[in-house]
Amino acid sequence: MTPLSNLHTHTTYCDGKNTARELIQRAIALGWESIGFSGHAYTPCDTEYCMSREGTQVYQREIRSLQQEYKDTIQVYLGIEQDVFSDKVSFPYDYIIGSTHYIRCDDDAYAAVDASQKTTTSIVERYFGGDYYRYAQAYYRQAAQVAAVTGCNIVGHFDLITKFNEGACLFDESDSRYRNAALEAMEQVVPTCPLFEINTGAMLRAGRSAPYPAAFLLRHLHHLGGQVIITSDCHQLEGLDWKFSEAAELAKSCGFQYGKVLRGGVFVDMLL
Ligand SMILES: [Zn+2]
Ligand SMILES: [Zn+2]
Repeated sequence: MTPLSNLHTHTTYCDGKNTARELIQRAIALGWESIGFSGHAYTPCDTEYCMSREGTQVYQREIRSLQQEYKDTIQVYLGIEQDVFSDKVSFPYDYIIGSTHYIRCDDDAYAAVDASQKTTTSIVERYFGGDYYRYAQAYYRQAAQVAAVTGCNIVGHFDLITKFNEGACLFDESDSRYRNAALEAMEQVVPTCPLFEINTGAMLRAGRSAPYPAAFLLRHLHHLGGQVIITSDCHQLEGLDWKFSEAAELAKSCGFQYGKVLRGGVFVDMLL
């Protein structure tokens, strides 16, 4: 089964294309039980794609108001996507997605790993001497801290660093230098936050053939006693339920019998 819900949803308050109301109406049309919003938290090192500090307050008020307005039709949740480098959370969100979008390369340089392949190549040349494994190791050293730093309930797109590596065009994801860095980071995160999303967003927006995280990571997550929740990292209406059945099949093939859904404010099991 696939979830009748998505908790990773962006709106026009950050870099999404649709309003919260449009997305709620789409979720209702799909017959869903819930929808959760996860605007990008204000991130001082890169203000281009995130909510402003003032916009965040308007976002909080609007989603809370929509939550009331639609309460007899669909559960609406107010979440946030916190980056390791975002402002710290000081609001009682219904849930937090913790994500690592940047590598801090020196005191003032924060390199976005999900901007474009060209940007990725230039970051690796400039800061890592062209060595993609050192780049990956730096990423996962930071990703290992994501739960402790953000206080998240859900770990977002854990291997985002592979976004532009379709077909292993930049580096080999089966290389032990890459795998050990990713697996060790996961082992540090799971005791603090065992719930990882299976995120289909880049299958729509970046031409990827599989969701995050890769199968070897999901198998290890299962081995460690972690859990999964299927999300679409939605930035536009048609992406709300993108490739959910493929995500569910992937989870099952990696050993998961259940995924999580947020119901009545509590994460509960759902048979996949
Ligand atoms: Zn993200
Ligand atoms: Zn997102």
